[in-house]
Amino acid sequence: MEWSESVFDGLRREMVEGLRRSGISNQRVLEAFLEVRRHLFFPEGDRDHAYDNLAWPIGHGQTISQPYTVAYMTSLLAERVPSGRVLEIGTGSGYQSAILDAMGYRVYTVERVPELYRLALRRFRQFGLPVEARLGDGSLGWEDEAPFEGVIVTAAAPKEPEALLRQLSDGGCLVIPLGSLAVQQMTLITRRGEAFERERYHEFAFVPLIGREGWKEERP
Ligand code: SAM
Repeated sequence: MEWSESVFDGLRREMVEGLRRSGISNQRVLEAFLEVRRHLFFPEGDRDHAYDNLAWPIGHGQTISQPYTVAYMTSLLAERVPSGRVLEIGTGSGYQSAILDAMGYRVYTVERVPELYRLALRRFRQFGLPVEARLGDGSLGWEDEAPFEGVIVTAAAPKEPEALLRQLSDGGCLVIPLGSLAVQQMTLITRRGEAFERERYHEFAFVPLIGREGWKEERP
């Protein structure tokens, strides 16, 4: 059954109430979640699940992250970096980029899977989102556009990618899940000149960041 926009609007309001009950309190984040139509970032046949608080497969072994996870990472960033240029690593469906754009950031995003990159780019254009997207290994950042006030990595990294630290502006923040392939600790790293301060938060389970400063790709 094809649901109407008003049904999706109601489900989206319920999703936002759920986020609020789970402890997400940043008003700008909650407003962005109300505004961005998550179902448009879902595979067409799966849209009736778009407002469940779940990660969902988007093909190529990848997922659109759970709304709570996106809200959690975005809140960590927004509380320290209210505006400016933000680099997202792992475009996936394009949803996290759209949330950052709705909050007024200038968004840059990198994806390594060509099909996902192309689909996300099509969505950005179709929805009129001024997001800059690039295909490549995001563990190396986006040198030509650096520095960034914020960097969000939406895939699990085994260690802090040097390039992403280097591409932060002074006072800028990197939000990154660091750990093993099974579980990672959400980590917020703030640049202070040539020094970096680290704060560690809750545990999550992401798909791996694959690249030069991430995990090696498994070859059959
Ligand atoms: N932010 C996405 C969204 O809103 O739909 C969800 C991201 S998904 C959990 C992680 C994404 O990171 C996948 O699309 C994956 O292909 C991508 N990825 C993994 N390693 C990468 C790398 N080195 N550079 C860029 N993207 C990468």
